[in-house]
Formats: sequence, C-alpha cells, structure tokens
Amino acid sequence: MPIEPAALLMSRSSSGEQVQTMKITRICAYQVDLPLVEGRYNWSGGKFVAVFDSTVVAIHTDSGLTGYGEVCPLGPFYLPAYAAGARAGILELAPDLLGEDPTQISKLNRRMDALLLGHPYVKSALDMACWDLLGKAAGQPVCVLLGGRYQDSVGLYRAISQETPEVMASRVGEYRAEGYRRFQLKVGDEPHRDIARIRAAAAELGPGDRLIADANTGWLMHDAMRVIQAVSDLDVYIEQPCRSYEECLSVRRHCRHPFVLDESVDSLEMLLRGHADGAMDVVNLKISKLGGLTKARQARDLCASLGIAMTLEDSWGGDIVTAAISHLAVSTPPELLFTTTDFNSYLTVSTAEGAPRRVEGRMSASTAAGLGVTPNWDVLGSPVIDLRS
Ligand code: MG
Repeated sequence: MPIEPAALLMSRSSSGEQVQTMKITRICAYQVDLPLVEGRYNWSGGKFVAVFDSTVVAIHTDSGLTGYGEVCPLGPFYLPAYAAGARAGILELAPDLLGEDPTQISKLNRRMDALLLGHPYVKSALDMACWDLLGKAAGQPVCVLLGGRYQDSVGLYRAISQETPEVMASRVGEYRAEGYRRFQLKVGDEPHRDIARIRAAAAELGPGDRLIADANTGWLMHDAMRVIQAVSDLDVYIEQPCRSYEECLSVRRHCRHPFVLDESVDSLEMLLRGHADGAMDVVNLKISKLGGLTKARQARDLCASLGIAMTLEDSWGGDIVTAAISHLAVSTPPELLFTTTDFNSYLTVSTAEGAPRRVEGRMSASTAAGLGVTPNWDVLGSPVIDLRS
C-alpha cells in the first residue's frame, strides 16, 4: 500500500530542487524469547537451544514511518555471535545513526562499518529495518527493491533436530505430510550413528525430495570421509562437514556428493575463494552472518552471476526474520534458489502480523510496502534500548 505523500519530508537540495529526505529520530530494541514447538533443537557436538533469544529493532523517523528488523543468533556457540552481543552492538551504533537517512542504505552500511569493525550480525537488524523503511517510502515490497519478484512462493526445507535414527526418519514422514520436500538432517555426531541417521532418513524420501546431511562443523576429516564413503550409494548432499574451510575443501576433493558450504562462507572474499577452489556446489547464505540484507543481496547476486545455487536463510529468527528471508528468496532467480526456510513455524510465539505462513511446504513474500510486518507489541513488551535524538 503506497504511503501518503505527506509522510515524506521535502527539503531543497543544493541546486534548489525539492528532494525527499528522511531522518532517524529514535532507535528501540526489544528482547523476546522464542520457545520451540518441539521443545528443543539439537545439532552437532551436543549443542542445543530450547528458547531462542531474539532482538527486534524499531527505527523511527521524522517521516512518521517506522522500520522493523530482527536478529537471532543460533545460541552463542554456532557463529561468533550471541544475543546479548547483538544488543550491546546496537547500543554502540545507535547514537551515531540518529539523524542519518535510513533510505540511503549503502551509505548507512558504510557508516556502520566505519563505527564498528566486524560484528556483522549486530548490523543485520538495523540494516533490515532500513530496507523496511525504504520499501515503505517507495510504496514497494522489499522483494521488488531487491531485484524483483521471480516467484509467488518458494520451497522450504525443514531442519531435523538430532535424535536417534528412528526418530529422525519418522520426522521425514511427518514433515513430508506438512508439504516439505527438502530435509536437512542435523548430523555431526559419531560417524556410525550419523551413517545410520542418513540411511534411515533416505529410506523415507519420496520422488523429488532432497536430503541434506548438515554436520555443522562437527566432524574431523577422517570422520567425514568414513560417513561419506558409507553413504556413497545414496542421493544426499553433504553440508559443512568440518570446522575450517581448508578441512572442508580436503573432504570435498574426495567426495562425489553435492557439497554445501555454510559456516565457512561469511564474506564475499570467502565466496570468491570457494568459487575459485571449486569448494562447493551450493552455498548457504544467512542474512545476519553476512551483516544484513544489503550484504546478503550482494552475495546472492554474485552467486547468481557465478551459477552457484543457494540456501537463503538466517541463523534463526521469528516472524520479522522470516519475512526478510521471504523477500530475499522470492527475488532470487528460481533455478539458483536451492531452498529457504520459515523459522516462524518452529516457534510457539508470534512477534509480528503479516509474516509469511507456510502453505504446502512453501511460503510467499508480502505484497505490502516494506517487509509487510506489524510487530505484536504485547509480545515484545517494553524496549530494552530506547535512544532518541
Ligand atoms: Mg548449515
């Protein structure tokens, strides 16, 4: 829905013509707990999360428009990111962003990078909120601004929490009944148990289904080689077997399965290196791992140009992250979108209205201006950060 023209402030440029401007007047952050429908989520090395700690950002402007973003690390031990760190970083950046124009997003990203070196996840929710504002100001959904709506809906994968082989195999059937056709098994445990998990899950697949064994860095190289050799007869993707890029590359060079890199690829530099080395067939791009939608789009467009298929998602999140993922995913050329995800369907609470809801294993991106989400203020409560100019 286009906004009222009165919502945009007009000012005179140096050459005298009228230009639209917008200034950030207030930045708020909200802490919200996101419990899981299934109780907990387990992955490699005994790591698990029972309640996700998410941060929602609201950027208010002098135009009367407000933009929303979210960042939710997968616990403090998945990537170099943790929930309290996201809030500490937002508090560090926010005073210097007051007065900036949130619709000049590349410029604002350079400002954030100049103020705080690294810490991409800290900048993700702020950048996401700026895209929401740009969409609202332009009267366009974010997916249009990210390049265009290629598809009305996109196919989702379902992550299968690490359990016994029998339980994980039964989950494939349950999630298939919900419409999912991509199944990401959480492995990265003892090789003999992981081999049993992959074999049991593969036996449940239907025509056209895809199975991904995601070790989340949990294997040493010799473990990875044993698992890969033991499932050589199966149609399965291998994702991020080992901790370092070099270990993964070594495994990749002995592996005939399609290969996905995730944790190792956190920058354009790593993407270019992986491409030059032939290190992956598919790359997993997470919005907050790269530093927001601006940098995720840059990586996405580079992958599209290089012919690298992508899983587009985030580390975790609720409704606002899911909305941002949906806009990134539908604006990606379909043949290059390997899969994407709907984190909000894993959760017991809804933090915003207007977010995508899974239908037959697929989700759509909103047609409303911006991300298309309206926070549920009764769930978010009072802000933990509230800075005004
Ligand atoms: Mg992964």
